[in-house]
Amino acid sequence: MRVDTASKMQRIDAQVLIPGRGSPITNGTLIFCEKKITFVGEKSKLPTKYQEISPIEVPILMPGLWDCHVHLCGSARYSLGDVASTHMVVAGARCAREVVAMLNAGFTSVRELASYGVQLATVIDEGWLPGPNIYSSVSILSTTSGHGNVRGIPLDVLWRKIENGTPLYLCDGVNECIKGVRVQIRKGAKVIKLAASGGIVREGDDVFAQQFSDKELAAIVDEASRNNLLVAAHCHANKAILAAIKAGCRTIEHATLIEDDAIQLMVEKDVLLIATRGIVKFGAEQPEIAVREHCKINKQHAEGYRKAVKAGVRIAIGTDMLLNSFKLPWGYGMNGVELKSAVEAGMTPLQAIEAATANGPASLGPKAVNSGLLKEGFDADFIGLDKNPLEDIEILGDAKNIIHVWKGGKLFKTNGQPIGFLN
Ligand SMILES: [Zn+2]
Repeated sequence: MRVDTASKMQRIDAQVLIPGRGSPITNGTLIFCEKKITFVGEKSKLPTKYQEISPIEVPILMPGLWDCHVHLCGSARYSLGDVASTHMVVAGARCAREVVAMLNAGFTSVRELASYGVQLATVIDEGWLPGPNIYSSVSILSTTSGHGNVRGIPLDVLWRKIENGTPLYLCDGVNECIKGVRVQIRKGAKVIKLAASGGIVREGDDVFAQQFSDKELAAIVDEASRNNLLVAAHCHANKAILAAIKAGCRTIEHATLIEDDAIQLMVEKDVLLIATRGIVKFGAEQPEIAVREHCKINKQHAEGYRKAVKAGVRIAIGTDMLLNSFKLPWGYGMNGVELKSAVEAGMTPLQAIEAATANGPASLGPKAVNSGLLKEGFDADFIGLDKNPLEDIEILGDAKNIIHVWKGGKLFKTNGQPIGFLN
């Protein structure tokens, strides 16, 4: 049976087409059919068979953005205890708004490194809710005394919460670490997340410590790798970064206190850095949430990021969005501000865009998807802008500048109208 695809072909013409990797194309055009891109190039080189398709015209066209480090936990406070005590219906309802906000801001894909990403992805994929493609780790693996431990809650109570779906997981020793990976896979993880070091803000959690031992890290990576999953390592302390890379973790999150030896090792092993300047800067600028530790390490983080960019470490963009509150000046839908931080760290706007588009899928390792590039055969995820981010990267930080959003070939946002729920 012959399938007529010609009628399903759509065309977008752009004054400037930014492919995600490589040079921008002036007077570019893109053809897509349902969920896939079928042609990208100069308008003058458009094959005859596509010339009859009447185009949508946009000033700037580029791939949909990737945020490779978010949380969809529905928590209004900067506290793991809040994540564990917020009712999941409340969390889900808060997150419903946030996924719409991210898609509205041009983020067509997010890697969700612990919380309710799997559940939200189900609802989005069913078509109930507009939102990005979500690739979730389900939980964060932590030692019993480590970053994922909630100190205000007795351990037996915490375990009951974990068994009831709170997105944390505590494991100690090689066997429990292997079990931890398998539990996440069973729940639908597309990536494995572990806490190699302590965190910045938690009382009793040492930011300078390496928490999992080398043997535990190796066991987690081995189990994940055999199941074709990449391991993402939350790391602040330099020694934890070194241990995580040596164990085979392929993305380093935060890297707040990174030093030259770890930068060198990241370059040698082509490990991806997701610096999450957003959360560290935000924490340092918010006296009311009194995260004094952020202020102390904020400068070091900025300096480490700059050095990593200069040394040629491969970077993907990630913000660590995690707070649901209207009172705060930084939140879901402002994910694009992270590209400004990338430029402040020494990237050109074109490099920052590559980090936020073409480099995104690499954060999923063997589960990488054909996304983040305007290229034949890739997913039809792209955004139209009325201003050029190569001239001013800051425009990507404001959803108002994202006038069109297509995800999977479907137009979700048009003419700058914010995406609603009931379309
Ligand atoms: Zn995080």
